[in-house]
Amino acid sequence: MPVKGWIEVDHRFCKGCELCIEECPQNVLALDMEVFTPKGFHPVHLIADGCTGCAICAVVCPEAAITVFRQTPVRVKA
Ligand code: SF4
Ligand code: SF4
Repeated sequence: MPVKGWIEVDHRFCKGCELCIEECPQNVLALDMEVFTPKGFHPVHLIADGCTGCAICAVVCPEAAITVFRQTPVRVKA
């Protein structure tokens, strides 16, 4: 079962530089053109399923605006 990931973007810090969009290997990030941050930028958001929680986006973000979450499958014994 694939690992499921997701991100949260802190709108106080995202400046819409698109670095994370360029580096995401799953191509699941884009600027949200309907939202403005407090500083007037369009923030990044997830646009599709497929995030693996690899955290590359968080590593490359110069503003440390991204928090990555990862849900790993757990085997449950009957
Ligand atoms: S954690 Fe990885 S797959 Fe998910 S949005 Fe960030 S770079 Fe893309
Ligand atoms: S790299 Fe950081 S500041 Fe740049 S668009 Fe992505 S979340 Fe926003």
